[in-house]
This record gives sequence, structure tokens and C-alpha cells, in this order.
Amino acid sequence: MASKPGVLTEWPWTPLGRFKYILLAPWVLDSMSPLFFETNGRKWDLSYSLNFPFLLWRVIHNQIWISFSRFRTSKSKNRILDKPIEFEQVDRESNWDDNIIMQGLMFYMGQKYLEGASNLPIWRTDGIVITILLHTGPVEFLYYWLHRSLHHHFLYSRYHSHHHSSIATEPITSVIHPFGEHLMYFLLFAIPLLTMHFTGTASTIGLAGYITYIDFMNNMGHCNFEFVPSSLFTTFPFLKYIFYTPSYHSLHHTQFRTNYALFMPMYDYIYSTMDKSSNTLYETSLKRTEESPDVVHLTHPTTPDSIYHLRLGFASLASKPYMKSADKWYFIIKWVLWPLTFLWSILFQRMFSRTFVLESNTFDDHHVTKKMLRIQTWAIPRYSYQYKRLSRQRGTINSLIEKAILDADKAGVKVLSLGLFNQARIYPYYAGEEMNRNGEVYIQKNPTLKIKIVDGSSLAAAIVLNSITNLKTQQQVVVMMRGKLTKVACYLALALCQRGVQVVVKLQKSTKDFEKLSSRFFSTSSSSQASLLAKNNLIPSKNYNNVHGNRQVWLVDDEFSSEEHMSAPKETIFIPYSQIPPWLNFKKNTKGAANILRKDCIYYSTPAMIIPSFLENVHSCENWLPRMVMSAWRIAGMLHALEDWEGHECGNWLITEDDGMIDKVWSASLRHGFRPYYLPVSCTSTIISA
Ligand SMILES: [Zn+2]
Ligand SMILES: [Zn+2]
Repeated sequence: MASKPGVLTEWPWTPLGRFKYILLAPWVLDSMSPLFFETNGRKWDLSYSLNFPFLLWRVIHNQIWISFSRFRTSKSKNRILDKPIEFEQVDRESNWDDNIIMQGLMFYMGQKYLEGASNLPIWRTDGIVITILLHTGPVEFLYYWLHRSLHHHFLYSRYHSHHHSSIATEPITSVIHPFGEHLMYFLLFAIPLLTMHFTGTASTIGLAGYITYIDFMNNMGHCNFEFVPSSLFTTFPFLKYIFYTPSYHSLHHTQFRTNYALFMPMYDYIYSTMDKSSNTLYETSLKRTEESPDVVHLTHPTTPDSIYHLRLGFASLASKPYMKSADKWYFIIKWVLWPLTFLWSILFQRMFSRTFVLESNTFDDHHVTKKMLRIQTWAIPRYSYQYKRLSRQRGTINSLIEKAILDADKAGVKVLSLGLFNQARIYPYYAGEEMNRNGEVYIQKNPTLKIKIVDGSSLAAAIVLNSITNLKTQQQVVVMMRGKLTKVACYLALALCQRGVQVVVKLQKSTKDFEKLSSRFFSTSSSSQASLLAKNNLIPSKNYNNVHGNRQVWLVDDEFSSEEHMSAPKETIFIPYSQIPPWLNFKKNTKGAANILRKDCIYYSTPAMIIPSFLENVHSCENWLPRMVMSAWRIAGMLHALEDWEGHECGNWLITEDDGMIDKVWSASLRHGFRPYYLPVSCTSTIISA
């Protein structure tokens, strides 16, 4: 918001919230109705009815710019400004369609009430020539002086400071202005539009083309990556006076007092406000090559619908946790965008065979530890169900992961962490078959790898362990292992036993299995007193009888079923230790209240931590996690790089009893500014999507 809001700073339809779109409804119906009804001899007016498709086109055009710019700026190649974007900016810029609604209303009204504005021809060359001349002359000239006056402190504090709150711009920053400022700009753009009308030279393409030109140039000026080829300016040197480039307007956002021009720099040349570094910045941005990150987190989109929640999808959706029940856009995504979702699924399944960069962040602790890391998140173009169900995908997915590891290794990345199903046992129903043994397969296959592969098990275990030891309860706590004995689960069971907590394990087959597990845990120094005590804390489930009314903590994984969940005693605390929350599977169950988490129990988040403020450029949520919270697996990779730890952290569970890895990662995470995230999941936010 402007620092001192004045008259017409606020948009008049702000109080309407998302109902603002209803303002357009009567006009859309009026323009489309002759298609379906006979209305008193009213004729079908093509140019009038094309208004609505044109509004949709403007939305799509802007969205393409948002997604493409986010894709490009996540890599450093040709990036102009390195400043981070935060959630606050995404929120401030989430109303970018206000401008489209306003101009849509103006267009509808103009064509309805101005005499001779209906039934326009498709094309008129004279009108287009008039527009070009009027834009180059009065529009650019008047804009230049209007813009300069908006930088006078009186108008700046009331209006224009709102636009300048964004230093690192996104394409859509271009239309983030207070309402009054938009009215002024619209009056300027109306000069060619109304001249076309009054001279009878208006055409559908003339009007739509001019607005599309403005949209294109606006988005380009704020996209924060340089791409206009220098050959264009060497072949046609005069172009530099009538065609700006992204770096040109980027300088206006960093220097404030130079490069005021709308799209044609000539007025800056005429009035000597051209930034002297314009050419240098243009050239350095064009030459800038890709820098490789220090850490890569390898993830994948979860459901087909989740692609809109990715950072490259809808900016505003990506800035909120992915929860269907809380998602006001869910209806639109599910029922309106499904053809697009379907198309993406086909592309993901058949064509995309390359990992793509989703996000890049900087860890810049220049105060305390003086550490600096460049971090990227890469995504494998496959959905969760493809990992789980299609056996023919297995080879493809594994080779995609291997390719990502080799690419990262070649680029000099220090650490790669495996997110979501990229490390999981993929075929739970094919006994014992695993995809990559938490990444170990790749190391055995490529023994010369310099990059370290991290599966993050120790940090995940440390987080769960600390949430159990920090429980504030009068009763004695007993931990029930209700999920599979994965690496994280084994880590946890051992650490809990050592800390004097009783752990009840569910083993289906025989006491032999239990003995095996116990000897695996306590083989190294089983003669010591401490070890014997710890050993007594590991209890097979058939021997456990809850006679003392202990408080139960159920450790659960992503295959935990709703029936089991319903069978837990009152006041049970559910803590997941898998990457994906188990409640996701609950919705598939048709029995009873499976969709609803129980009100008499407490549910914890999947292992995650609150990130420090110096982890920058975070402006999207990691799947279902809230803002500024990241999964243990993603943080683990960063910690490995920050601490320069030797060796990989992957493979099956081989850690010995006195391995201090859990304490080591936990204290490292706190030392680097990460904070525990123990907030239980609320009962209403059940249907999370993965
Ligand atoms: Zn300005
Ligand atoms: Zn701007």
C-alpha cells in the first residue's frame, strides 16, 4: 500500500473480495445473449461480444509472463537483479486482475453507449497508423511527465510508492498501482482509442492489438531477465530510442530518479534522465551465464492439480499451503481447468524427460555463522501416483533421478537431498522391492561422484524425537510404532529407547522377528548397563497392555489406514514420520467419517522446521506446509552443505547404537537459525493433497 493513502488509492471493489468478478457478469451476459436468445431484433455484434474472450486472453497472456519469468529467474542466466521476492510482495501483487476488470468495464460501456462504437470492422490500417503516431507522440510524452510528477513526494507517498514497493519486479508488478493512478494511465491510453473512434477508423484488431501491445511491453519491462538480442540494436540503431528492454525499466526500480519512460526511451534521452548504466546493465545481463547452486533439493509435483500450486503455476496459490478444503480456487481448478490439467498429465507422462528448476533460494547468514549457500529445488516431471502405481514408470523415474544427480555433480553442486518419493520404497506391494535404497543405488553405480546424496533421515528423526520429548503431559508417554520400520522409524525407536521411553513395535510374524530387530538395535555394546535398560524399553505389541492408562503417541507413516486411526484410544497423539502425511489416504476410504480427523486426538505436521529470515527468496509454500516452514528432508541437504559433513547420508539403516547423528543434526539446525515447528495440525484442515 502507498505510504500515505490518498483519494482513490484503494480500489473501489476491494471490499468485494473475490466477488469482484460479478461486476463483469451483466456485461458478459448482455454481449453474449444475442447468441442464444432473440432479443427484440437486436443484432449480433461481433466486436462487442469479443470483449469477454479478449479479457480471458489478457489474463492468460499475463499468466504466461508470470510463469515464464519465474521459470527463467529461478536460474541465474540473464537475470537482471538478484534481490529476493518475499510473501509480502506476492500478497501485494495478487490483485493484478483489478486492472483487467476496470478496463473491461470501460470497453463494454464504451462500445454500448458511444455512438458508432458497435459492429466494428476487424481491421483498419488507417486506425492502426493513427494509434502508432498518437502513442509515440502524446501518450509517451504525457506519460513521461505524469510519471515524473508521480515521483514528487506528495504524489509518491500517496500513490506511486505502492508500485515501487517492489524492487525486484515480477512481470505483474507492472499493473500494481493504486486505483487513481490506473485511471490516469487509462485516460492516456484512451487518447488513441478515442481518436480511432471519433475518426471512424476503429477496428477490433486495432483496439485489442493496442491493449495487447501495452500488456506485452509492461510485462516485459518488469520480467527481471534480459532477452532482447543485441543484434536488433546493432542492425537498427534507432530502435534503442523507441523500444526499451527489461533491464532499462529494472533500473527505474533500483534508481528511482532515472529511466522514467513508458516504453520508448527517447524522452529520457531528450530530458537527460537516461540512466548512464542502462547500456552496461543491458550487456552484463545478456552475457550473464548460469551459476550452479551449492545445494539441490530434488522433489516432484504430487497430484495433477498440484501443478497450479507450484511456484511456476499461480503465484498467489503457490504462496499458500496446498489444502483442498481451504482452497477457494479448488472448484475452478477441478472443473474449469481440467482440460489443461489433463494436457499437462499427458506431457508429464510421455514427453518431459528432464528435471526442471522450480525455485532458487539463498541462505545468507552474514551475521552469525558467516555462511552463504545458493539453493535450488528441482522437480522430476512425474506425479506421486506415477511413482506408486505404474511399474513401467520405475525405470524412467530412476533414470530421471540418476540424470539429475549426474547433472548436479557435473555442475559442481555439493549436496543433493532427495524429497518425497525420490527416496522412498516405491513398491510397497512388491515384497521387499525398493527403488533406490534411499539413494544408495546411484552411489554404487557412479562411484566417482563428488556430490553428496542426503536422504535427511536423521533430521526427520531428530524433529520427531524432540516433539515427543517436549510433550507436556501429566501421564507417562508410551510410543506405539504403527508404521513400517523405515530408516527414520528405526532411528527413532532406538533413540527413544535410549532416552527411557517405552516403544511398542508391531511385528506381524513371530518373536523371532522381534529378536532380530532388537539385536540389530543393541548389538554393539549390549553388555553395558545403559544398553540393557534401553533394550528393556523395546516391547513387542503382543506383550503390551495399557493397564496404566499411559498417554499414547502413535508414530505413523503414509500407509497408515483410517481404520487403524479410528481404533486409537482417546487423546492419542499422532506424529507422522514420513514425508507425506498419512491423512491423505484417509479420503479414499468410504467408511464413515474417514475424511475427518478426530476431535479427541492431536495430529502433528510431517517433520518440518521454521526457517530463519536469512533464508531468502522464499515466496511459495512447500506442498501442504505453511509459509516459512520447510520439510526436514529439504533442510537436511542445507545442513550437510553448511557443516561440510563428510560422506553421504543414504542407504539402508546401518547406524550403530552410539552414532550421534541425531544430536549432531539437531544442534546444527538450531545453530543455523532453524526453529522447531510443533504446531499440531488443526482438525478442520483434513483434506490435504499429495
Ligand atoms: Zn516510478
Ligand atoms: Zn515499474
